Amino acid sequence: MSTPFVTDEAIFSTLRKVFGFREFRPNQEQVVRAVLDKRDVFAVMPTGGGKSLCYQLPALLLPGICMVISPLIALMKDQVDGARANGIRAAFLNSSQTPPERDEVMRDLFAHDLDLLYVAPERFTLDHFRQTLARLPISMAVIDEAHCVSEWGHDFRPDYLSLSALVTIFPDLPVAAFTATATHRVQKDILDKLALRTPLVVRASFDRPNLLYDVRFKDNVEAQIVALVKSNPGKAGIVYRTSRKSVNDTAAMLQSKGFRALPYHAGLSDGDRSSNQEAFIRDEADVIVATIAFGMGIDKSNIRFVIHADLPKSIENYYQETGRAGRDGEPAQCTLLFAQGDIPKVRFFIDAMADEIERAKALGALSKVIAFAGNSVCRRRTLLDYFGEIYPHANCNSCDICLGTRDVVDCTREAQMLLSAIVRTEERFGATHIVDIVTGSANQKIRDFGHDRLKTWGVGKEHDKKYWRQLIDELLAHKVVEKSEGLYPTLSLLPKAVQLLKGEERIEIVRVLEKKKVAAIPLKAETALSLKLFELLRTLRKQIADEQGIPPYIVFSDRTLHDMARLCPRDAESMLSVSGVGEVKLERYGRQFLCLINRYCNEKQ
Ligand code: ADP
Ligand code: ZN
Repeated sequence: MSTPFVTDEAIFSTLRKVFGFREFRPNQEQVVRAVLDKRDVFAVMPTGGGKSLCYQLPALLLPGICMVISPLIALMKDQVDGARANGIRAAFLNSSQTPPERDEVMRDLFAHDLDLLYVAPERFTLDHFRQTLARLPISMAVIDEAHCVSEWGHDFRPDYLSLSALVTIFPDLPVAAFTATATHRVQKDILDKLALRTPLVVRASFDRPNLLYDVRFKDNVEAQIVALVKSNPGKAGIVYRTSRKSVNDTAAMLQSKGFRALPYHAGLSDGDRSSNQEAFIRDEADVIVATIAFGMGIDKSNIRFVIHADLPKSIENYYQETGRAGRDGEPAQCTLLFAQGDIPKVRFFIDAMADEIERAKALGALSKVIAFAGNSVCRRRTLLDYFGEIYPHANCNSCDICLGTRDVVDCTREAQMLLSAIVRTEERFGATHIVDIVTGSANQKIRDFGHDRLKTWGVGKEHDKKYWRQLIDELLAHKVVEKSEGLYPTLSLLPKAVQLLKGEERIEIVRVLEKKKVAAIPLKAETALSLKLFELLRTLRKQIADEQGIPPYIVFSDRTLHDMARLCPRDAESMLSVSGVGEVKLERYGRQFLCLINRYCNEKQ
């Protein structure tokens, strides 16, 4: 099939009319143009970078059907709903459908009534499906989540290996592969496996400027989670925990405090898992407490916060998990609760791993996470550095390090107090008890052991318990003391401690003295009035979404609603200038939203 020349006018008017956008995001235009020129593409773009548009737009401009191979059934449905909401003729074929449903898609395909077809890789391996493909006017092939082809990726899918046949099956068509997984090793592996023909390779910046990274000392984890959820009222968020039990406990704890929270982990029944996920997607639950099993299958664009209550397994995981926040480009907050005291627990599991190579890999990954959380370098810089990218600014203005005022404090004297309490109790006690000694607690355990008669009892009264726990954490990080594994971990001294006790070594600690209120990231020119209107628009969005059986963020994204609340469009024409409102959405939802805005604005005047 020959490709007709596509004019700039056609590209930009489709961008505007179908998607409701005036301009491309970085790299989108380059990819779109390459595909229109029938060139293969390999694009690494972060989550929220706008990958779908890179192929959906050419799919509309090229005659024929764009075939998208996508690994997750749940995502397929979402993508199709999203495309259809913009008036794109899209469908999927996968095992979740009944035979009559599949037949209907086949009929549409042969009637040339589709622009986009999503299929699972399993289908692509079937001979009869390939024969069907040969009889269809396919315009291009897309591989979504292309990292699934790499064994180095976190999400390897053996079925994806069959995709290396794409270039031979479609010798004349462009093949475009997309992924959000950023390591160079995975990138190289994908390129090798897919054997793309002199592809345009695009590597977008992995910076997610709308995400705020915040690492806090993990002190009282439940209270900290509650405070964070409270500071994001009615907003969607994910709390990641490592074990199923802690997921269940945290979800129950949040529920008991009146939050709309639900658990998600592999131990739940399929039914419970999907209904909890569905409630979250439909804005009926605000918080999902989950193991890392959650998030792969969702495209929800309005997640406003992600909390890691336990240590993530690797920087890669941390980036992917936090990356699920703020896909719509609006501000979102990512908080990691971290204490050195968590490390032995993780080490314990890693040490129990049978495979030596896996164990070494896990250890290496863990040490990078510890460095990320424990050092005092801009979090954004550290994350980007991991992906081989140099962050160009000295201050990112949206991480706890860059926002905080820091000070270097000499804590040698205080450290000596702790160490001497550890020595005097023969290295047989844990952090809590040692803190009780220096702060002069008179609880039962202290009295039973006669520790209230120790010279160090009560010497550190001028500081609270949190201060001392944090200092122990720093001593662990500086390898002055170590913590044993097991159920009742005890603290013992390392060689450095002896020098510290003798005064031959000093210990300085970088403290973030004062953090700016991180929750208060200003939305663009947000006023109380526009926030009120936003809430009303959100309610209308939910009502329409329920009527249509689609997730609210597919009706309009948070960004679009914020734009509406700021601009207050009063007629169809100005409504079209709102980002994310194309012609089909205007026709479908415009009247209801305009009605609401007009009523609201008239009342305020
Ligand atoms: P990805 O698949 O790369 O994570 P999506 O394709 O889901 O990203 O896009 C993320 C969000 O960005 C969506 O809400 C989408 O509508 C929006 N978006 C995509 N392209 C643009 C653009 N050119 N201008 C404004 N918003 C865009
Ligand atoms: Zn920073």
